[in-house]
Order: sequence, then C-alpha cells, then structure tokens
Amino acid sequence: MIHTLIKKLTLGSSVFICAILLLANILYIRIAYKNLEQQTISNFQTNIFQIYQDIEKSPILNASVLKQYTQNHYEIYLEDYETTLYYESDAPLPDPQAVIAELKKLSPSLSPEDRKRTSYIEHQEFFYQNGKKDYYVSTALIKNSDYEINAYILYSLADLYRHTRYIILQSCIICVSASLILCVFAYFLVRQSLKPVADSQRRQTEFIAAASHELRAPLTVIMSNTFAMTKTTGDEQQHYYEITAKECKRMSSMIENMLTLAHSDRFALQLDKSCCQPEDIVIDCYNYFEQIILAKHLKFHVSLPENALPPCLVDRNKILQLLIILIDNAVHYTENGSITLSLSRKNQHLIFCVIDTGIGIPDYAKGKIFDRFYRVDASHSDRTHHGLGLSVAKEIAQAHNGKIKVKDTPGGGSTFIVELKIM
Ligand code: ADP
Repeated sequence: MIHTLIKKLTLGSSVFICAILLLANILYIRIAYKNLEQQTISNFQTNIFQIYQDIEKSPILNASVLKQYTQNHYEIYLEDYETTLYYESDAPLPDPQAVIAELKKLSPSLSPEDRKRTSYIEHQEFFYQNGKKDYYVSTALIKNSDYEINAYILYSLADLYRHTRYIILQSCIICVSASLILCVFAYFLVRQSLKPVADSQRRQTEFIAAASHELRAPLTVIMSNTFAMTKTTGDEQQHYYEITAKECKRMSSMIENMLTLAHSDRFALQLDKSCCQPEDIVIDCYNYFEQIILAKHLKFHVSLPENALPPCLVDRNKILQLLIILIDNAVHYTENGSITLSLSRKNQHLIFCVIDTGIGIPDYAKGKIFDRFYRVDASHSDRTHHGLGLSVAKEIAQAHNGKIKVKDTPGGGSTFIVELKIM
C-alpha cells in the first residue's frame, strides 16, 4: 500500500513539476522571441534610416555600402519614376518585379499635400511573406527638389528564426534535464517523507502478529482449564481455577501494556503531571519490592541524594510504573547478589538507576530489548514476561522528554539508567 502511495505521489508531483516547468519554458521562449524580434526590428530601423538619409542627400548611392547590407540579408530595390536604379540581394527573390509590384500595393499612397512638399521621407514598415520566406519590409518615398525615389527594403527573418530555434532547443534541453532531476528528487523526497508512515505500518503489523501470538498461549490455557473445571470437583477444581485466574491476570497485564503502547502510537502518551518529591517515588518502590526481593534472598539497596531534591513536575504514577518494570526485570533476571535503586540530579535531569548483578544482556541485544515483544531468550518458557515491559518503560521516559539506556554492571549484570528532564 505504501509503495502504491509512493508511486502515486511521485507521479502526481512529477506531473505538477513538469507542467510548471513547461509553462515557464513556454513563457521564457515567448519573451526571448519577442526581445529578439524587437532587437531585429530596431537594428533594421537604424539601418534603413541611414540608407534613406543617404538617398535624400544624393541619389548616387555608394554601391559598396549597400552591398554590405545585402550581405546581411537585406534586399534593396530603388526606383526613380518607375526606372530601376538599384537592385541588390545575396539571395535574390525568384521574381523580384512581381514582389515589388505587390509591395507597391501595400505601400502608403501620398496625399496631394504630401506631393506639394519639396523634401520629405515617407516610410512604412510591415511583415511580408513570399512563398515560405518571411520578411520585415520597409517601403519609402524619398523626395527632394530634384528627384523622387521609391525604396523597397526587405530583411529576411531567417536569422531571427534560426536564433529562436536555437533558444527553443536550448531551453527544451534545460527543461527536460530539470524535469528529470526534479522527478528523481520528488521520488526520494516522497519516499523519505513516507518513511515514518511505512515504519509505523510495519511496526503495527509486527505488533498485531506478535500480540495475537502471545495472546493465544494464555487463551489456550484458560480454555483447557475451564473445560477441566467442569469435569472436576473439590481440590482438583480449585487447582484448575487458580491456574485460570493466574492466566487471566497475566493476560490482563499484557493487554494493559498493549493498550498503553497502542495509545502512545496514536497520540502522545497522556501524562497526569503533578508536583511531587522524587525521593517519595523511590521510597514507594522500596516498599513495594522489599519483601519480594528478600523472598528471593537478594539484597536491596536504595541510594538517595544527601540533600533533598526540589519538587518536580512529573506523572508520579507513570514514573512509578517505569521503575516497577525495571526492578521487576532485575528481580526476575537476578539469582544472586543485589539490586540497587538510586536517584540523583544532574543539571536539569533527574537520574534513576536500577542496577542488578544478574545474567546481564549480551551486546547484540542491547539495541533490541526496547522493541516490542523482543526477548533475548525467546525460547525460554517464561509465562510472566512477554517482552513488552521495556517498550512501555521507553514510552514513559520519552513522554517526559527523557531517555532510557542500558549498560553492563561492572562484575556482571545490567544497569538501566533513566534520565528525565525536570520541567
Ligand atoms: P520481559 O517482560 O520479557 O522482561 P522486557 O521488555 O521488560 O520484557 O525486556 C525485554 C528483554 O530484555 C527480556 O526478555 C530480557 O531478555 C531482557 N532484559 C530486560 N531486563 C533485564 C535484566 N535486568 N537483566 C537481563 N535481561 C534483561
């Protein structure tokens, strides 16, 4: 499902990126073409006015100067009272006379007032197409007291089109390359953004699979013992009843842990913070575990700071739950020696340590023990520990902006350190 979502989002964002780039490209080409056209026309105008002024001064044109223009794609046709004075082109028109006749029709006609004036240059510019070739044309009437010359100057737009084609090619290459790069980038961005969702989906699937597996065992025991209870009486029935009750209790604690984790997955773990003395939590733990630890013939040490710590704002019950998980594990995995619970303060952090001298945790498992349903020795048929305690402890620590870590106890065993930020 996540893969389909990644594909769809990548496709969607790629189409969007390509559409934006295409639009920007079309806009750029249009602006570039307009600028080029403007520049071409302005160069043309500068040149033709120079030619017209020269003609106005003298009808004897400097052929070498005109030739320079024609080499630059100008076609110049001059006429004095219907007599051709000059025609020059580096790529002659197939039928120049027919073209000139057509241009004459498009040229402005002179009003009687204009004709009376002794000296003027009357000119007009327009686009003109001949066959498949496009031109920018200027037609003019240059008059002084001695002569009257009609000028037809055509400028081939082939150069303008060639430049435009080059710009289109260049910007298309840039546009395609940029689209490809951005599409690849979009794919990685989408994949990276959806990674937490994919991880959470994977964790949820694993969680459900492990939870159903773990719940099946107590359910089987409960079902078989309930059936046995119906077939027995007296002490035997009591025996089956006690097993069933124990399994129900175990199942209930597991479901409670699972609900805590499921809730913290959907929302942040809800904390009920209140101002409390951290030493009191440690003393509660001591009272809770004293007899349990003594019954196992272990020593229980508690270490508190010499001076009373300032009160802090925490969820007292949740911190107590966290310490109970750690001490319960310490008791469970320690056969000889001692368990120490200490409390100290470092800068803005409260530090709780649970130190045992038990079996310890191998290095390869230290990073995994906080995962849900992970047990170092999964084959161990322990019916009270189901691999959820440390993941709940980690959620509680994180909800308090804190962290939990594990290291070896010097001489053997495990030391769990909980650092909680004091609000
Ligand atoms: P469990 O309920 O199985 O103890 P936890 O999440 O609390 O689950 O712990 C995960 C695993 O970490 C345990 O199965 C155990 O292998 C290991 N572990 C936890 N605490 C200790 C400890 N104090 N000493 C040795 N191993 C421990």
